[in-house]
Amino acid sequence: MTDPFDRATEREEELRSDALADQERRAGLAGKTVADSATKCRICETPIPKARRHALPGVQTCIDCQADLERAGLAVIH
Ligand SMILES: [Zn+2]
Repeated sequence: MTDPFDRATEREEELRSDALADQERRAGLAGKTVADSATKCRICETPIPKARRHALPGVQTCIDCQADLERAGLAVIH
């Protein structure tokens, strides 16, 4: 059984998480912290140097893969 209040709360949570996801998509790396950085490249699994993780909070790829992605005209993987 679902009462209208439960449905409204559910909908509200849905909207909120959508808005958050949107915001994160738009923000890209902005707002990410070093803790969001991957320790290994998402593509080739090469360890990402600490200096790179700190320089680019939220980074998910190594320098080589990042260069490949940029050459291919693809955005940064988050
Ligand atoms: Zn890589």
